[in-house]
Formats: sequence, structure tokens, C-alpha cells
Amino acid sequence: MRNVKQSKFIGFLKKLGDGFSAVMHPKGYVCIGCGTELKEEYHARSICPECEAELHYRTGDLCALCGKHIEAGHICSACADHPPLFDKAYAVFDYDGLARKLVISYKDGEKPWLAEYIAKYMKDYASAMEITADMLCYVPSSEASILRRGFDHAAKLAKLFADYADITAIGALKRIKQRKDQTKLNATERFKEVADAFALNSAEAAKLVEGKRCLLIDDVLTTGATASACAKILKEAGARSVTVLTFAR
Ligand SMILES: [Zn+2]
Ligand SMILES: [Zn+2]
Repeated sequence: MRNVKQSKFIGFLKKLGDGFSAVMHPKGYVCIGCGTELKEEYHARSICPECEAELHYRTGDLCALCGKHIEAGHICSACADHPPLFDKAYAVFDYDGLARKLVISYKDGEKPWLAEYIAKYMKDYASAMEITADMLCYVPSSEASILRRGFDHAAKLAKLFADYADITAIGALKRIKQRKDQTKLNATERFKEVADAFALNSAEAAKLVEGKRCLLIDDVLTTGATASACAKILKEAGARSVTVLTFAR
């Protein structure tokens, strides 16, 4: 699904740079990927050209619903079989190369400040793709992972994104079923496993969500099962639409 917005986005990438503030980097003018000192021309984006080449923007033919790479047609076979409950999912990068390394370094707590860069890439992508929303929500982490990491990784990305985009982020959702290891599950099993894992955080959250276009933030989209389960709750609360945006997939 190569469309006008995507062409616009590619044009935008060529101009990208102004919005990236090197001062966000706590260690000064070094590359977020490899840590080498950067020449002045790369300060604005805090990334060296070699590392940047390792970030693969998701372009080409993508499923109109979940954003999966497809060979032909409009939507992927998984979406045809089980349509997701969100309206559309976008991801900035393929989950490989540097994008994968950044997510892991961020979530492991090794480089928590990477959140600022990850959220900035997401915000710039959303602007370029003209993704609009009334409010941000995020996929809530399990208590175990918050305890382990010391922070809620998607909440942190959503709050930074909200600051950059001047939009409100709310913790509308909570996890009511603890996360099991999903790596051994196939797509159908994952959908079943997370289907009842979430609930609204409060009656207040329901009021805030009603009639709104929600942008649901997470770091990585895999099968889309988690995002779909969250979208179900938001829509039951009256959300007008739920668009999903992740850093990678
Ligand atoms: Zn580098
Ligand atoms: Zn799909």
C-alpha cells in the first residue's frame, strides 16, 4: 500500500533533522547507536550515518490494517481471518538491526534515556504520516515487568510523545491478567491468551475516552494481539477510533 502519505513521508525523511535536539543526549554529541563521537553535521540527530542505515523504515507494500509486509492485495491473510479490533496499526521501523538494539537497550534499563529518541522518532513519523488523535493511551506493562525494570516502558514513551506533540496521554488501561511467555505461542494462541488481559483503569478513564480518537502507543508490535485486546476495551468504553503506533514491528 504505497500511497500519497507514504511518498510524503519519504520526502520528509530527507529533510529530517531540525527537530532532533542533540541536547537530549545526556552524554553529549555521540551516536545513540554505536557511541562514537559525531561530526558536527550529525549532532542534530545524534546518530552516525552508518547506524542510521541500520534503521529500516517500514515502507513498501503493507497491510492496510496491521501494517504487516504483504506481497499483494490490500490486507494480510491474518487480518482477513481475524480482523483486529483497532482501526489501523503503524510502526516506524522494522524490528531488526539498530531498531531492535535500541528497544532492548531501552527496556533492559541499560539506557533508559533512549526513550527520548524512540518517542521522538515516533512523533516525527506520526506527523509525517498525518496520524491525528485526541489523546494518547498506552499498552500497560505487567506489575512484574514494572518491578523488574523500575519503569513502565510504554507509559514513558507515551508521556514523552505527548509532550512533543502537545496532546494528553492517559493511563486508560490496566493489565488484569499477568503476562505469560508468549514466545512459544502461535498467532491464534496469542490472541486467545491476551483477549481478557486488560480492563479500564477507572470510571474516570471511561469518561475521558468516550467519543475520542485514541492513539495507542507501544514499543513493538508482534502479532497485534495485545493491541487488539486493548482496542477492544477502549472501543467498549466508547472510543471513536483506535489507531496503534509502535516504534518497530
Ligand atoms: Zn553510530
Ligand atoms: Zn494485517
